[in-house]
Formats: sequence, C-alpha cells, structure tokens
Amino acid sequence: MNQEPINKETREFQAETKQLLDLMIHSIYTNREIFLRELISNASDAIDKIRFESLTNQDLLEGDSDYEILINPDEATNTLTISDNGIGMTYDEVIENIGTIAKSGTKSFLEKLKEKETSTDKELIGQFGVGFYSAFMVSEKVTIITRAPGQAKGVKWQSGGDGTYTIEEIDKEKRGTTIIITLNEEFRSAERSSENFLNRHTIEDLIKKYSDYIRYPIKMSFIKEEKQRDDEGKIIEDSPVTQTVEVRTLNSMTPLWTRSKNEITAEEYNLFYKNLFHDWEEPLELIHSKAEGTVEYTSLLFIPSRAPYDFYSQKSTSGIRLYSKQIFIMDNCQDLLPEYLRFVRGLVDSPDFSLNISRELLQHSKQLKLIGKNLEKSVLKTLENILKKDRAKYEKFWKEFGRAIKIGAYTDFQSRDKLKDLLLFSSSHATEGLTTLEDYTTRMPENQKVIYYATGKDRASVERLPQMELLQEKGIEVLYLFDQVDEFTIDALQEYKEKNFQSISRGDLNLDDIDSPEAKKNTEAILKENETLITAIKEQLKGKIADVKISNRLKSSAVCLVSDDNGISLSMEQILSEMNNTMYKANRILEINPNHDVFTALKNLHETQPASESFKDYCDLLYVQALLIEGLLPEDPISFANKVASLMASKGK
Ligand code: ADP
Ligand code: MG
Repeated sequence: MNQEPINKETREFQAETKQLLDLMIHSIYTNREIFLRELISNASDAIDKIRFESLTNQDLLEGDSDYEILINPDEATNTLTISDNGIGMTYDEVIENIGTIAKSGTKSFLEKLKEKETSTDKELIGQFGVGFYSAFMVSEKVTIITRAPGQAKGVKWQSGGDGTYTIEEIDKEKRGTTIIITLNEEFRSAERSSENFLNRHTIEDLIKKYSDYIRYPIKMSFIKEEKQRDDEGKIIEDSPVTQTVEVRTLNSMTPLWTRSKNEITAEEYNLFYKNLFHDWEEPLELIHSKAEGTVEYTSLLFIPSRAPYDFYSQKSTSGIRLYSKQIFIMDNCQDLLPEYLRFVRGLVDSPDFSLNISRELLQHSKQLKLIGKNLEKSVLKTLENILKKDRAKYEKFWKEFGRAIKIGAYTDFQSRDKLKDLLLFSSSHATEGLTTLEDYTTRMPENQKVIYYATGKDRASVERLPQMELLQEKGIEVLYLFDQVDEFTIDALQEYKEKNFQSISRGDLNLDDIDSPEAKKNTEAILKENETLITAIKEQLKGKIADVKISNRLKSSAVCLVSDDNGISLSMEQILSEMNNTMYKANRILEINPNHDVFTALKNLHETQPASESFKDYCDLLYVQALLIEGLLPEDPISFANKVASLMASKGK
C-alpha cells in the first residue's frame, strides 16, 4: 500500500466557517457533551445513505453490509475515534461538506448570534445543523479519514480549528468515515468524569442518553480483567489476572416509537425529539399513535415550542420523516401534511411504504394521502384540545405558529372551515390575551348584526382611528388586526356563524341607530343641503378619491378615509403595494363629519369664495389629514407642509 501523502494541500475555511469555528471553540454552547451525539448522528445518517443507495446498486456495498459505528477512546494518544461504514465522502465532498458552509441558514445564524452578542444563546446551534463543527468544542485537532464506495483513494482532512485545514489523498481500505478527535486538556482530565470523554463509562452514559435509539449498533471495546476460573466456574483466587477485550453494543437500537406509549417517559420523548430534530427546547406537545386497519402505521408527531428562525422568511420545508418497518426512507416528506401544518415535526413508520419509493411516486401514493388525512385530523384535534384546556399554552403556540394557521385559512380553501375555530385575534374587549371568534360571538349582543374589525399596526394606533370612537362609545367589540395576513384571512372566511365581518373603515357600519331610516334621511338631508359644496370638494380631489360622503360614524374627528364594499381595502392596498403589486386600488371615500367646525369653515369659505385658492387648499388639506390618519403618506408632502405653514402664518397675522 502506498502510504505517501498525495496532493497534500492547505486550504482556508470559508469566512463564515471560520467565524462559526471561533464561536464553537469559545464555547457558545455550555453543554459540550452533545458533540458525541452530533458525530454519531452523522455516522448513522451516512449508514442510512449507503443502505438506501445499495437498494438499487448492490456493488456499492463492496461486500460489507454489517453496518456499525465504532467508538474507541485511547488514553495513550488522547484521542476519541468514531468510525462508521457509511457512505463516506469523496475529495470534493469533503471540501464541500466540511470546508464550507453551504447552508444558507448559517449566515443568518451568525448574524443572529451577533445580535445577541452577550447572551450565549444555546438554543440556536441545534436549529442550524452545524453538527460536525461541535467537535471543535472539545478538541484541539480533528482528523477525518474517509472513503466513498467505488473510490480508489480515500481522503484525509485535518484541522486545528484555526482557520485552515489540510486535505490530501490517502489509502483507506474500508469504506466509510473515521473521525479522530484529539481532546483538549480539560476534557481528558480524570477529575470530572462526566466531562472526561476518554472515560468509557462516561461515553456509555452519553450514548444511552442521546443515541440509544440509533438503529445501528454503536460498539465499544471494554477490557475485562479477570482471574482464572476452575471447571465449575469459580474464581481461582491466586491465579494471575488476565485481560480480555470484550466488544459491547452500547445502544438498545429500539426506536422509541415502536415502544408502547405508557412505557415511555416524558424525558425520553423530549430527548428523542431534541436529538432527532436538533431542537434545544422541549416540544410543546406530542402525539404518538398507532393505526391498524385500511392503513397501518405508527406516527410520532411533535409541535415545537418555538418556530425556527427562518420559519416565515423562506419556504421552510416540512419536518416529517418516513420510515418503513423502522428503516429510514426520507426526510422532510412534503406530501403528508398540508402546508399550513409544516411546523409539525415527527415521523411516520408504515410497512405500506416501499423502501425505494421515489418522491414522485410518493405524491401519488394512496396510503400516504390516507395517513396524511388522519395526521392532519389528529393535529387539529390536539390543537383544539389545547385551546380548550390550556389557553396560556395555546397562546404560546399561537405566538409562534399562529401565522401559519392564518395563512392556511386564507390560502387553503378546503381547510378554511376546519381552521376558523383555531384562530385568535386581538380585540377591544380582550385587553390581555387574545380572543377566538367563538368568544366574540358569545359576547356579542343579540341585535348586533356583524363582527367588526379594524386594521392597524398596534393597539394604540387602532384605538386612535376616528372610526373607532363611535364604536368605543357604544361598547361594541372590535377585532384588532395587527398582522398583515389577518385581513386576508378574515376576507377569505367571509362569515362566522352566519355573521359577516365588517371593517370599521368600509361601507355602512350596520348599526341600527345610525343606519336607521331616520338617520339615513337626516344624512340625506344634510347632503342635499350641501350638494354644491360636496360637488366642489369632489371636483377638487378628482382622481384621488372616488366619492365624498357625509359621515355618520365620526364623533370628534373632522374627516376619515374609508373604502367602499367593493374591491380591496386601504390596508390591503398598502400590503399589496409593499409587495410591488400596484394593480389593485381601493375605492377611496372621503367621509366628512357634518358636525365638526372644519365642516362649517369649509362651508363658509365655499359660500363666500368658491373659486378661491384657499378653498382648494382646504380641500387638499382635508384629504391629506384623512390619509395621515390612515398612516398613509401624501403624494406631495412638501406642498402639504407649505399649505399648513401658510395657514399657520395667516392665523398669526
Ligand atoms: P448535517 O448533519 O446537519 O448535514 P453536519 O455539520 O453534522 O451537518 O455535517 C455536515 C455534512 O458533512 C453532512 O451533511 C455530511 O454530508 C457530511 N458528513 C459528516 N459526517 C459524515 C460521516 N460520518 N460520513 C459521511 N458524511 C459525513
Ligand atoms: Mg449532523
């Protein structure tokens, strides 16, 4: 065998990787023992991969299908070695997978960490899948020796975590990967045995704790010291001590989900979840079920406590793993749960899946659809129960994933009905916490015809809306929609328990007393009386507004901007324009309060100088006021400022 190194080269880590390594080494994670779990999980993933690939290409196995992971602590060299006979890596793959951080999440991860500079945020690591680098938390040097099946040469990679690594071709007989970590001084001292990673019992405990369910044997050799025994098996006291090496499998290899529910402790579930889904926090809820009948499967689903950092910012994938008779088939199975439940993590194990099913075939699998339907039902049922029994817990869930549910109700036509009772909103009548639609309708007086809502950026700005004043005075409950998607959801629902939703900024308010025939008559009378004025205002604001109306919803404010019942609302228009969609415009209606002094001033001005610049300016100012109240900028802020300035100056004259 040729032992000479070929092509040894020193390379620099990518800048982000360097930063990450720095963070690792300077301990952002206090719980350093997890490095072992990470390396074992990589080994197990690598074996999963060769096992899967070999289904279609036997040759890859090179005759070796006794899958195993070996751990070997060696005090003489201060090293801990973890070997697997998995898929290994080619030269390029080592550079790609280990030397660079390809994952787009890593950049954001670093940014996030910097944001919170001081807090050593532990939970972050797991979420970003930076598993391999955790080895540098405990070691001064890490060596990888690996060979992919079918490759003539293996690869040796080595780094002290200092910004560079070396890589070269070497010979390696067995397929797979060996990771040799040279432990830091502090992790090989015997005093703190729980952090002495050369101690076999420490290792054994860690494997039990984190990696028990790994489906391949994790083996370690123990040295047995024994005196000789006689023919009956009794120890011969004065015989010399002999040492024998005994290889033991450290993990039980029983996947947790195959065990019966009442034998599994909460702690076991939690650890399993954290290990499998790289979460630092315990799940909010778990659902473990077995089904027999038309389809047979076991499922173990978790609702996480926290949304991943990128949950809403990019199209994050679903977190369901598929197994068939305990053999891993695929990660992130998209077709099992509807999009709006993509926050659910977990797994489904069904003998009905064939092992080498492709993603394409899976899409059309009847069993998968059936299982998916059942899972969706049980997740929704679980959420419903939490909502009923533990409101605080549900609100915690809602804070993290509520938006996904709302988007679901808005985009997923078929699910709308199932989701409406899971929705929560802020409300004028729920000053702390949130309200369900059911709560709202229960509180609603019998003669109230619609469910009112208002949009705005927060409670204070909604409550300052001129349109709110009247409703507040009457004690009518208004849902407050702060999230952009809220109004789209409400719009999609259309009604709840046969009560329509009514924006306080659109159309008629549907209030008996103000919309009574009498009140309407009164408004019409005012309108008639001021017809020329109204027409003149309309004329001046032509192109900006669709109509001018006499308002019956304003109390102390002079003016407000509403949109009519057709088309989109003003707030939707804003959201769409932020998304660069300027196709849709709301029909703006300027409503003027006939009881306000401004109205009288306008009226007088119109009577005395109908064609004056002052009158035109007043109209413009009125319109801009209405815009500003809605949080909209005037088209020409400078002209607005100038007009206000000259108005102020004229007052002071
Ligand atoms: P993740 O496991 O989340 O992908 P890691 O940092 O743990 O992230 O590993 C990075 C990559 O390095 C893996 O995706 C895999 O491609 C490769 N890798 C790590 N360990 C092994 C191994 N034992 N065998 C083969 N490939 C490995
Ligand atoms: Mg990993």
